[in-house]
Amino acid sequence: MTTLDPLLDPLAARRRDARRARRRMRGRQARQLVQQQARRALIGDAPAIGVDIGGTKVAAGVVDAYGKVVARTRRDTPTTSAQAVEDVIAEVVEELAAGHDVVSVGIGAAGFVDAERSSVLFSPHLAWRNEPLREAVERRIRERLGRRIGRRTVVENDANAAAWAEYRFGGGTGESRFVCITLGTGIGGGMVSTGRLERGRFGVAGEFGHMVLVPGGHRCECGNRGCWEQYASGNALGREARELAAMGSPVAQGLLERVGGDVSAIVGTVVTDAARDGDPAAVEVLTEMGGWLGVGLANLAAALDPGTFVIGGGVSAAGELLLGPAREAFRRTLSGRGHRPEAKIVLAELGPDAGLVGAADLSRGWG
Ligand SMILES: [Zn+2]
Repeated sequence: MTTLDPLLDPLAARRRDARRARRRMRGRQARQLVQQQARRALIGDAPAIGVDIGGTKVAAGVVDAYGKVVARTRRDTPTTSAQAVEDVIAEVVEELAAGHDVVSVGIGAAGFVDAERSSVLFSPHLAWRNEPLREAVERRIRERLGRRIGRRTVVENDANAAAWAEYRFGGGTGESRFVCITLGTGIGGGMVSTGRLERGRFGVAGEFGHMVLVPGGHRCECGNRGCWEQYASGNALGREARELAAMGSPVAQGLLERVGGDVSAIVGTVVTDAARDGDPAAVEVLTEMGGWLGVGLANLAAALDPGTFVIGGGVSAAGELLLGPAREAFRRTLSGRGHRPEAKIVLAELGPDAGLVGAADLSRGWG
């Protein structure tokens, strides 16, 4: 075999660059794994603080080794600046640390978190753009407490944190590969595979809500049209029900009575509540949404082949009214149906605490 001078052979130069890149990547992954294992050995099962930054509320709690929230506090999310949010995070950490011997802090935030789990690259609800959140929060905690809290703070995407919590303490326990879908105003996604959270190469995997399901469909905030979350989410539920009510359809009479005739007040939670009370229009809208949920899950099964889908978030309060139609649509749409094992579709178990429980647990070096 002849070896050509890389300077003369562009293909050889490209191969050499690729080899170097692979080596760098493997080195980084190995370092991260060693750091995490060291962290776990040091921290063990001590209580940790989890902070869940929502669009309107900051919820925080002290979480024990069994995923139980043993103390909690909350604040409104400041809308003024990124710094104001960081101040609030440090404030709740100070409050919780005063009564508990905590070892680490995990922060769950909506948006893209970098692969190092320290910066928020982009957040849809907050003024965070390339925000070095870990550093900023650690500095503020040091200023307030006059010391650090144990090991480094960890920042995680909120849906990833929720997925991790369901894996460790909820509907995904013991599953070797599972996908968690959080149906809130939009769709949050996370996947755990062989005991590790799947973050992707750049830390931004799991944005399933923006898979295009309906080309040319409803406009999405992300800039595209027809994203899954425009058809299966709290926002979608509200929009469909409002459309029905605004047309003056007698079918929507029950929904309108619930909101005193104010069409704009028909939001996702109103529809879910009405459906649980047996309102036929609400049940119909929810059934349709369950169908879209099932189609999206079938797409995910084709790509990812998980053993279980765990469905959480506010809309999942509808329970079987949502999951029944979702399972039906899933079976109808699944590729190679009848000739492959089918993933289970189950409800999440941790409720609205999932984000903060997962963030706290991840800060102990898991995931
Ligand atoms: Zn989108």
